[in-house]
Amino acid sequence: MPTDSVLDLVFRQAVIPGQSQPQDIGVRAGRIAAIAPRITCDAPEVVVGGRVVVPGFVESHIHLDKACLLGRCEHSRGGLAEAIAAVAAMKRDFTEADVYERGARVIEKAIAKGTTRMRTHVEVDPRVGLRSFSAIKALKVDYAWALDLSICVFPQEGLTNDPGTEALLVAALRDGADLLGGCPYTDADPTAQMARLFALAREFDVDLDFHLDFDLDPSWMHLDEICRQTERHGWGGRVAIGHVTKLSMVEPATLAAIGSRLARSGVGLTVLPATDLYLTGREVTHARPRGVTPVHLLIEQGVVCTVATNNVLNPFTPFGDASLLRMANLYANVAQCGPDRFQTCLDLVTSLPARLLRLGDYGIAPGNPADLIILDATTAVEALAEIAEPVAGYKRGRLSFERPPARLNGPETRRAL
Ligand SMILES: [Zn+2]
Repeated sequence: MPTDSVLDLVFRQAVIPGQSQPQDIGVRAGRIAAIAPRITCDAPEVVVGGRVVVPGFVESHIHLDKACLLGRCEHSRGGLAEAIAAVAAMKRDFTEADVYERGARVIEKAIAKGTTRMRTHVEVDPRVGLRSFSAIKALKVDYAWALDLSICVFPQEGLTNDPGTEALLVAALRDGADLLGGCPYTDADPTAQMARLFALAREFDVDLDFHLDFDLDPSWMHLDEICRQTERHGWGGRVAIGHVTKLSMVEPATLAAIGSRLARSGVGLTVLPATDLYLTGREVTHARPRGVTPVHLLIEQGVVCTVATNNVLNPFTPFGDASLLRMANLYANVAQCGPDRFQTCLDLVTSLPARLLRLGDYGIAPGNPADLIILDATTAVEALAEIAEPVAGYKRGRLSFERPPARLNGPETRRAL
């Protein structure tokens, strides 16, 4: 029974997924200082009371700059190309204040749903310039009390076909962007875009995150070129690809072969179930393919896979409350994952995206920041199944939000049985 007289805070009886019995978690100077079944100390207590505690959800792919656009545009039945065009038309009018306000709305939802780390994509091109990027940089500073934000700048409407875009990407990288994104399928020369982005990534020593293979035709894939370039540049472990809906259309043997290739090359894969479900297969009238790649199978081959939000309340995805637990639950529904895989689904929004983002200090372990989210559930399986509400969250040991449980107001009497 460890005794610690210099703790600032102690969490009592936390159920930590993977541990056999509830633990006390001691916090000192914003970091986890001790984990034990019973810590003796007189520090202020947070009574977790046998509920699940996770180190915060990790959002590995979201677009804060184009969130919350519903009501500004006509968009009801379109697919991917229509969604890109709808946002492109609006983007010219984005102001820094506008992007900041919409991004803040999503960040605040995400914080209250238990997200503690986030990678956001931001569009940079001659139409929007660096206005969205500037707004997101301000959000990164202003919400650092609850969320670590990583900024991925990318050319949504193409790079080689859009003069001026590369200079803006370089300007953003010199001014605080954390990594580079890509979107080869909108480029006039997809292979040249990939090569250019790898060259820039090496020049600026940043990771890469591509939107890739976002259709249902498995007869060709940009994935092959990404793996080739990753190996050629020695960028394994630093490259992610998102959507990759083509992989939902291949037979198990082909999927396994591609899984080995991804694992060997060190290329991670993110599925974005809300957008993938909403946009893909629009041309099919019935027996519609769902376009969600079964990443729980790729994980077994050693591929670093994640589930993420992508878009919130815009033409790409007119849904969203920024809850990653909801997204993991949605994935489980679509991928037909039962309770034996619920922990894996939870990993897809916690430990796996932490690996994809190369977060060296993530997890409930001594020395790491005390980022702790209490869920209204007693097991990880229950949390995933019920999309348990986060009841409180701590960032570096400081309370960042509280959500008191609903209190029913029924009649006084209750039947005695
Ligand atoms: Zn995206």
